[in-house]
Amino acid sequence: MRRPLLTVMVLLSLTGCGGAPAEVSTSSSASTPPTTTSSSAPTTTTTTTTTTTTKPRPKQVVVLDPGHNGANATHAAEINRQVPAGRGRMKPCNTTGTATNAGYPEHSFTWDVAVRVRDLLAAQGIQVIMTRQDDNGVGPCVDQRAAIGNQSGAAAVVSIHADGSTNTSAHGFHVAYSSPPLNEAQGEPSTRLAGTLRDAMVSAGFPTSTYVGSNGLSPRDDLGGLNLSERPAVLVECGNMRNATEAAAFSGPTGRQSYAAAIASGILAYLA
Ligand code: ZN
Repeated sequence: MRRPLLTVMVLLSLTGCGGAPAEVSTSSSASTPPTTTSSSAPTTTTTTTTTTTTKPRPKQVVVLDPGHNGANATHAAEINRQVPAGRGRMKPCNTTGTATNAGYPEHSFTWDVAVRVRDLLAAQGIQVIMTRQDDNGVGPCVDQRAAIGNQSGAAAVVSIHADGSTNTSAHGFHVAYSSPPLNEAQGEPSTRLAGTLRDAMVSAGFPTSTYVGSNGLSPRDDLGGLNLSERPAVLVECGNMRNATEAAAFSGPTGRQSYAAAIASGILAYLA
């Protein structure tokens, strides 16, 4: 009987910083007791029937940001347009991304993994917003992607990428976060999100990067999407597309599902 109440407390404190309407849960809890008391005889058991286990949870919003896009390569002018990237800098709107040596493009990988993560989170009752709706378009620019996360009031924003180091022995994933933080969300919430994602990837058996960051984490001050985020935000580089072992994992549905499951698990751990 204590556990549901504790869950409610946690949810309320989460929604307090997430901006979601907290009164949804309080009003529904207030409306449940009268039905139970009126249907039962006037005994002393009424207090025990007021447990809040059936109370609907307010939906948490997660923004998934699949890196790049399918038509970026054929729209150089749009993609190279300079946009604000935070810390007073300008950067190209977006980039084409990398590819495996066999030609499997990063934008296809990030799109496919993001769809799989979306489905896994949606199955847990999470509302997922994607920064792009397919893998055939241009952009959106990094500042627009950040704006989508900010306007949604997301509890977490996760960008999904894969790297393209020409050092083919370099491998492993890393999770980047904005550092030094430019606002409160980029501080403890973002580093905690980076930690839960890193832990979930390690638990799933993925090696941490041999060539970027340390212990699978990489503080960055040059990533526009992270710099401009006002929500807890991280960017996952799943591995090196030029590394033969990781390229093989990226190129098949089984491998992509494994990455998606680990990312979803890390997000759920953060939201718990
Ligand atoms: Zn990328």
